[in-house]
Amino acid sequence: MATGFVFHELYMWHNTWNWAQVFAPSLTVQPGEHAENPETKRRFRNLLEVSGLLDQLVTIKARYASEDEIARVHTREHIARIKAMSAENGGDASSLTPFGKGSFEIAQLAAGGTMAACDAVIEGRVKNAYALVRPPGHHATADVGMGFCLFGNVAVAIAHARATHGLGRIATVDWDVHHGNGTQSIFYADPTTLTISLHQDNLFPDASGSLAERGEGAGEGYNINIPLPPGSGDGAYLAAFEQVVLPALRRFKPDLIIVPSGFDASGVDPLGRMMVTSEGYRAMTGLLMQAASELCGGRLVMSHEGGYSPMYVPYCGLAVMEEMTGIRTAVEDPWKPHMAKWGQQALQPHQQQAIAAAARLIEAIA
Ligand SMILES: [Zn+2]
Repeated sequence: MATGFVFHELYMWHNTWNWAQVFAPSLTVQPGEHAENPETKRRFRNLLEVSGLLDQLVTIKARYASEDEIARVHTREHIARIKAMSAENGGDASSLTPFGKGSFEIAQLAAGGTMAACDAVIEGRVKNAYALVRPPGHHATADVGMGFCLFGNVAVAIAHARATHGLGRIATVDWDVHHGNGTQSIFYADPTTLTISLHQDNLFPDASGSLAERGEGAGEGYNINIPLPPGSGDGAYLAAFEQVVLPALRRFKPDLIIVPSGFDASGVDPLGRMMVTSEGYRAMTGLLMQAASELCGGRLVMSHEGGYSPMYVPYCGLAVMEEMTGIRTAVEDPWKPHMAKWGQQALQPHQQQAIAAAARLIEAIA
């Protein structure tokens, strides 16, 4: 069976204006393009085409998530606020999250694209799927957008998979370099959704993503944060998978695994300070495919989140898609020899300490 792929031209038309004032109250630097712009995603999609891999993928048609479907995880007030601003000239979902006219509908299409990817995998039309959507979603909470996100695409898709396919347990493994705070908060009291986030410690949002955030009420123990020190590379990420992510998934036994997939943990990302390579992303994908095949018939869906290096995101994305399809193209990652010279890719003792602390959390999963 083939791998499904979701893309829509409208994802590229979500306007984030420019940013110069997002970190400062006054204009002190020349305004430039917002970091969350179409370029990295378009180049990822284009490398799939140029490499020939796109021809091997099954196109899954994106659809618009309805307001009722979004309201399964977001407040009506939040939806109405974004809709009203979008109908005018756009606005800001909160700090850092400017959007233009029509972005409400594009955000509906991003959530709906992730839902469509889940439908195709759950119904067995494809073995796994990647939704290359925009705007991203993992920072949006029930009642506010933030961190470039309007609606929680993955959260909406999880609620949809439950409501329409009757799925029980669903796990997310968020490898975006920023904390998946939105997904975490939406399912914080829900023991049927295991939310795992690997992220750079103390990056974004402020004071978010610590080991102490473990869920609440019936959901206590079903949220696992793996905050990693800046400088963590393939060695640390793979160790975190072996010691925390995979054992947690095995205890939880999900019916579906969804990855909020950000390539901003890469070694050349402007917004993160991690060192993951395309080979690291390939290896993490392979481990998740193994876990999915062992636990849930191979059901694995990825939904695109961050990743801000226009030169490198395409290679990370291609590596993930090659692994998901089992097809190697002739394209080589041109950064590989360059990044190999940097050193420090192997697991370091202080990184192992952080991972061991997170590993202690998995015992709470029943
Ligand atoms: Zn991110």
